[in-house]
Amino acid sequence: DLEVSGLTVRFDGTTAVDGVDLVLPAGSVTAVLGPSGCGKSTLLRAIAGLEQPASGSVVYAGQDLARVPTHRRGFALMFQDGQLFPHQDVASNVGYPLRLRRVPGQQRAERVEELLDLVGLAGFGDRMPATLSGGERQRVALARSLAVQPRLLLLDEPLSALDRGLRERLAGDLHDILRRAGTTTLLVTHDHEEAFAIADRMAVMREGRIVQVGDLAAVWEHPADAWSARFLGYAE
Ligand code: ATP
Ligand code: MG
Repeated sequence: DLEVSGLTVRFDGTTAVDGVDLVLPAGSVTAVLGPSGCGKSTLLRAIAGLEQPASGSVVYAGQDLARVPTHRRGFALMFQDGQLFPHQDVASNVGYPLRLRRVPGQQRAERVEELLDLVGLAGFGDRMPATLSGGERQRVALARSLAVQPRLLLLDEPLSALDRGLRERLAGDLHDILRRAGTTTLLVTHDHEEAFAIADRMAVMREGRIVQVGDLAAVWEHPADAWSARFLGYAE
């Protein structure tokens, strides 16, 4: 499990993340849902070790990560634009984290095949990123994030750059891919439909604080207050 306790991140004047407590059970997919500017990306970055918290702790499997740098946490991060290497084909992009770990060529090729199959892109290994659709690029980025079986997958609005139809289809696929891979996942988004489609647990965030957390259905059926209800997509 990952346990976040009292996590607070400040930027000069503002408190972007304000005493967040959050437990991510191993293998669960949790969505943090909240409006623009409420501190979602900052929370993810702090968990990844990319922001220095003013106070609080991030503990993984009993180990306090305060002194563990980002690249040693074993977490994978994926941002909304996917960020592929434009001059490398799909297979090289997906295999890149394996190459860094000096996984031998044959073994790497097999793992890349497996990953492309997992994200529904079998046979795409030779394609260049520029020839892919936005949704295909996102899948390649996801395959690359899963290449080294991260202890925790952190997704920052992974689908927000895509159009509505594609977003809906990919959200369903992402749900299945994450369950099959068994990866503990934290996803942040301002889109409640994206959260409902992908996650099984939900935390609602407002002004740096988690105002409610629980199973998807429980949060949906019992919004904490009128603000949450509106944000979860209930009509006025
Ligand atoms: P969005 O949905 O628009 O991506 P968010 O919930 O991810 O929003 P954050 O990016 O975490 O929000 O920002 C939270 C607050 O912290 C905002 O007020 C933002 O302006 C501020 N902030 C974020 N990063 C910095 C920074 N490096 N320096 C100063 N302020 C920052
Ligand atoms: Mg953000």
